[in-house]
Amino acid sequence: MNSSTAQGQLAVVATPIGNLADLSERAKQTLADADVILAEDTRNTKQLLQLAGVHYQKLVSLHEHNEVERAKQVASWLDAGQNLALVSDAGTPLISDPGYAVVNLLREAGYDLVAVPGPCALIAALSISGLPTDRFTFEGFLPAKSGARKKRLQEIASNTGTSVMYESTHRIEDMLADIGETMPGRQVVIARELTKKFETVLTGTGETLVDQLKADPMQKKGEFVVMVAGNPEGGAGQLSEQQVIAALSELPTKQAAKIMAQLFGGNKREWYAKLDS
Ligand code: SAM
Repeated sequence: MNSSTAQGQLAVVATPIGNLADLSERAKQTLADADVILAEDTRNTKQLLQLAGVHYQKLVSLHEHNEVERAKQVASWLDAGQNLALVSDAGTPLISDPGYAVVNLLREAGYDLVAVPGPCALIAALSISGLPTDRFTFEGFLPAKSGARKKRLQEIASNTGTSVMYESTHRIEDMLADIGETMPGRQVVIARELTKKFETVLTGTGETLVDQLKADPMQKKGEFVVMVAGNPEGGAGQLSEQQVIAALSELPTKQAAKIMAQLFGGNKREWYAKLDS
């Protein structure tokens, strides 16, 4: 590095989640000024920049498969005084999107990072959900397989603040069914296609929303944010496994194993073996 060259800056830039008009003036200016734009998918970003009338300089890819390798290159560009911008396909980078490896490395190494904030599906959804927003947990995408998903949902069931998740059209119905099973009667709000033509917000429970989607398959189409109200009582889920095991110690092992599987997920036999050891 030439010691007379001032280090460049990396701007993390949010882009629209469906409505081009949500690209801010500052985002446009930052993208036009950047020596290099790092994009999750260069074709998508090229299209966005063209639609927004932004003349850019250089566009390179940064996705989950090259992120770690790219991070070192990014540091050398910054050392050479270049200004960089990081974008994902939609919304805020790093939020269920690439960018963490680069930002983590640059932050630890003391580089200059700046946020150009804007659209983010989880924040947009929460802001119109009607659910409490004073405390919430973002759970991202849940596992694709039902067994693993239910296990996560059992854990989420004990959150006392609102839980927010992302889901795609392919799994929304199964996910809502699993929410109905693991948190019967709990209030659920789903926000679909935010900022787009078919933006819809539905409120119900896991059980009623599954029925609603079955009755009107159009409601299954698009991108979803799923929000679940917090556990009003805290409930057994707030206790640790050890605390519940201690509380059940007077019961026969078979019965205790069944209750543990219901509360914490997993298999009755595995719980039996654990309690019996
Ligand atoms: N980084 C993005 C953000 O800031 O929201 C999220 C990217 S993640 C790969 C894509 C997921 O976000 C979708 O599957 C959906 O769950 C959610 N999402 C993105 N855009 C959305 C929209 N317009 N309406 C509802 N959910 C959306």
